[in-house]
Amino acid sequence: EAKRQGRGRACAFDARLDEDVRLRRRIETGLSQAIARDELSMVYQPIVTGARHEIVGFEALLRWQTEDHGPISPAVFVPIAEESNLIHELGDWVLDRSLAALATWPGQYVSINFSPRQFRRPHFVDDIAQKVAAAGIAPERVQIEITETAIFDDADRAAETLNRLRALGFRIALDDFGTGYSSLYNIRTFALDVLKIDRSFIDGMPRERESMAIVRSIIHLAQSLGLGVIAEGVETRAQVDLLRAAGASHLQGYHFSRPVAPAAALDLAHRRWLSPVRAVATGTHG
Ligand code: C2E
Ligand code: MG
Ligand code: MG
Ligand code: MG
Repeated sequence: EAKRQGRGRACAFDARLDEDVRLRRRIETGLSQAIARDELSMVYQPIVTGARHEIVGFEALLRWQTEDHGPISPAVFVPIAEESNLIHELGDWVLDRSLAALATWPGQYVSINFSPRQFRRPHFVDDIAQKVAAAGIAPERVQIEITETAIFDDADRAAETLNRLRALGFRIALDDFGTGYSSLYNIRTFALDVLKIDRSFIDGMPRERESMAIVRSIIHLAQSLGLGVIAEGVETRAQVDLLRAAGASHLQGYHFSRPVAPAAALDLAHRRWLSPVRAVATGTHG
């Protein structure tokens, strides 16, 4: 009886795996046609200063609207694209769109996500430098977001890539900070400008003492090393207040704005401040 049950479970498991593989294939096929079918778009989420909530930049985030399955999250399709050369095609598209949007904003920077495979591509630095130059954009207005996975495997080469990007004037942000391994080693060794504190820690605030303690430590560490911080996933007023008290230099999250379409981002870019309190209380300050 036990054996039969076991076999039944194994079959169910195989069936699920099959289903998984089929789904991944469908996503891969769909993605390879997504650009031609005009199913991709970009949205931009404001990054604000911790104290006055001035919009200093926007994170560029990719969206995929399929005809058959509705919207599919980049958390699902980016890892699948990452397993093939599709990521390069998507990445080039993202970069072109993001630079075009940036060119319309009055002064903010754009923060673009690059997956490990993009970051390790030969000529990554030359390609991005060439595109930014062709668009007539100062590299200082482009922030490159990478995760620890991108720099972990081949540290020497990653260090060289980061040094070259920095020498050209690009800013480097370490995304999802605190969730990767050997975080302290990474921030000591690599040329970075900003740590993005992972949303999972902010999410635990203020309920979990541990999350609070970790966030405070990351902010303190960043300050000591002369790095900026961006707290990701800020959703509540309580979190804003706590992060401000802890000295977080920059904030990003639904509390301020969801990621928005290019036209709405342009409006926000011109409005510049996202603090209702500030707008009412102090109105005219620069
Ligand atoms: P990420 O780079 O860590 O981006 C932050 C994610 O948190 C975004 O999810 C954003 O919409 C979401 N977020 C921002 N504020 C809040 C908040 O207050 N609450 C909650 N619950 N979520 C918030 P999104 O857009 O679904 O992207 C997921 C991930 O997909 C990104 O994580 C990034 O790793 C990847 N991704 C997105 N766009 C691109 C892209 O153009 N290129 C690459 N390589 N990866 C991308
Ligand atoms: Mg990011
Ligand atoms: Mg992140
Ligand atoms: Mg992430």
